[in-house]
Amino acid sequence: AQERYASIRDLPAETVDGAVLSLQMNAGLMADLPSLPSSGAEGVGLFRTELQFLVRNQMPRRSELVALYARVLDAAGGKPVIFRTLDIGSDKVLPYMKPNDEPNPALGWRAIRVGLDKPGIMRMQLQALIRAANGRPLTVMFPFVAQLEEYRAARKLMDKTLAAEARLGHALPEHIEVGAMLETPSLAFAPHKFFEEVDFLSIGGNDLKQFFFAADRENERVRRRYDTLNVSFLSFIERIVERCAETDTPVSFCGEDAGRPVEAMCFAAIGLRRLSMRPASIGPVKSLLRRTDLQEVRKVIADARHRGEMSVRPAVMDWLRTRRG
Ligand code: PEP
Ligand code: MG
Repeated sequence: AQERYASIRDLPAETVDGAVLSLQMNAGLMADLPSLPSSGAEGVGLFRTELQFLVRNQMPRRSELVALYARVLDAAGGKPVIFRTLDIGSDKVLPYMKPNDEPNPALGWRAIRVGLDKPGIMRMQLQALIRAANGRPLTVMFPFVAQLEEYRAARKLMDKTLAAEARLGHALPEHIEVGAMLETPSLAFAPHKFFEEVDFLSIGGNDLKQFFFAADRENERVRRRYDTLNVSFLSFIERIVERCAETDTPVSFCGEDAGRPVEAMCFAAIGLRRLSMRPASIGPVKSLLRRTDLQEVRKVIADARHRGEMSVRPAVMDWLRTRRG
């Protein structure tokens, strides 16, 4: 199988009916970067910056972050990298920050909420990203945005930081894109303006699914009850894709499910064209996509919905089996 994936590494993720997908990889450490050329990923669709903060026992200095982010961009060699700003809180607690005793950490003070309340850390991180880019294009996204105002506030912080960096004589990125992760159901119903203002969106399926079904992603007992291919969840993702299409907002899916071939195929069938996953999943996902006619998958999904099935998975699996014949 490894050989089969190597043979398609440089081929596009194009389906039988001609849909072309962009497959990107998730990363978080320098050690992940060699997978970029070897996996055939088109870029890094999610760089989780919190790992650098979690692996040490004190807050990293700005100069260290500049050096690290510059090395990431160097290693990417011109392929796009989407840096996600610090996603801490909930399951990711910094050892050198006072733990806050919250009854429901997953619903608590985390990610962008911390970033906006304590802008010092976020500003330092944005400065480090701008300096690391040193004139090259820069793409940044904010985690756990739940409403338009949070995106606006974060973007304002970015604009202010850019202006301050320019005054200090630092080169500004030749092009900058600022996106948001869609991880709370509220954002799917944000005003039209949100979809117009945001440069791109990335669906964080791990968190989005947890909040959609109200089932803790860390709790095996409840997590496994709810299938990603449940018709309710699939309809929800489809609606998000439609809203993005209305405003021409680029949208990707970067949760773990993007790396599961059957899930990825169904996401493609409902209109997603960008998926970001662990590097080892790129080959298997691409392999299945290249053998698939999405129009057939759409029909299988529509029929299962019509029959009132809870999940489209059994029908899709049946279809895959008979197709292999
Ligand atoms: C997600 O929530 O789907 C996601 C990609 O972010 P994380 O898993 O880091 O929360
Ligand atoms: Mg998340």
